[in-house]
Amino acid sequence: MIEETLTMIPGPTPVHPRILDALARPTVSHVAPVFVEAFKSALSDFKTLCQSTSGQPFIVAGSGTLAMEMALINTVAPGEQVLVVSQGYFGDRWADLAAAFGIKCDLLRAEWGHAVAPEELETRLASGSYAAVTVTHVDTSTGTAAPVEAYAEVLRGASPLFILDGVCATAGMDEPCESWGVDILLTGAQKAIAAPPGLAMCLFSPRALAARRARATVPAYYADILRWLPIMEDPSRYFATPPVNEIVALAEALALVLKEGLPARFARHQRQAAAVREGLAALGLELFTDAGCRGDTLSVVRLPDGIADLPFRKEAASRGVVLAGGLGPIAGKAFRFGHMGNIGPGEVTRALHAIEESLRALGKETGKGVAVAAAAPLL
Ligand code: PMP
Repeated sequence: MIEETLTMIPGPTPVHPRILDALARPTVSHVAPVFVEAFKSALSDFKTLCQSTSGQPFIVAGSGTLAMEMALINTVAPGEQVLVVSQGYFGDRWADLAAAFGIKCDLLRAEWGHAVAPEELETRLASGSYAAVTVTHVDTSTGTAAPVEAYAEVLRGASPLFILDGVCATAGMDEPCESWGVDILLTGAQKAIAAPPGLAMCLFSPRALAARRARATVPAYYADILRWLPIMEDPSRYFATPPVNEIVALAEALALVLKEGLPARFARHQRQAAAVREGLAALGLELFTDAGCRGDTLSVVRLPDGIADLPFRKEAASRGVVLAGGLGPIAGKAFRFGHMGNIGPGEVTRALHAIEESLRALGKETGKGVAVAAAAPLL
């Protein structure tokens, strides 16, 4: 039997046929009424997804990294200081970005696999003068979910802007921007929203927008949100050609997210994460991430003794399941298993089955069918 390859990496995630159909619609003018309506719907649904009533959404061609850059350089000037809370590779990226724009950076880092405690954030916040604090909701390198709600309490009423990187969380984990006091939530299209890659998305609170307006200039042209604001308010206007097909596909993806309903979608991600972890445990596999801070969108799994990364992932790929390798210090020691977006019991069980068979093919003894048997009751 021939099956489509199942991409179970932490983004891009499998794209539902309805979204692919939307992508394949004829390319129309960027001012065609049918496109303008799709763009408006994507903007409005993204705002709903952010659980915001007063925020201003921006959707432009790019990726999550461009959304990070837009968040930072529109609100923090060269020479000002940002506090970066990092629990991995993508947290550290904020420090690189700051350096690229002459922004001073204070890096508050957790040991890989652990989260920065809210008390540490509180102490560090009191020790400096920061224009913004960046937090990565789920760091895709370590699988760590930041305790964002507790950070939000620490940051409530504080002057630094609260910037949240939701690239590996948005649409898979709860992010009530307004009640948490998030000033900028940013994400990409290709993870839990489950659209094809190619879009940078961010939502600016009125306070964040005011921070941009308070500056005469920012070190950007394409990434200057004030150039995009008129288009986001009226998508029939032009600044730079939007990726028409991607935005139509995103509109479909966001409609599917809202059709499922946010509470149901977050609960499904939680369930799937729990099922995956039961399945992995039944195979004797251990997670890299500390039990107190695991994101629901992916699992970072230690490779057992005697199983090498590349042969293992090659075995899985030969069974039609693509997994990702470890990043940075855990490269070759762990693999990453994405379980977010528009997937269900079929995808989870197929991936677990492939992992089990791959381990057995490489000589690890496991009972037959134990992974799926352990996961299935939770799905
Ligand atoms: N932040 C996080 C948490 C991510 O996982 C990623 C991508 N893996 C990025 C930022 C960067 O996004 P992109 O690759 O779309 O530029």
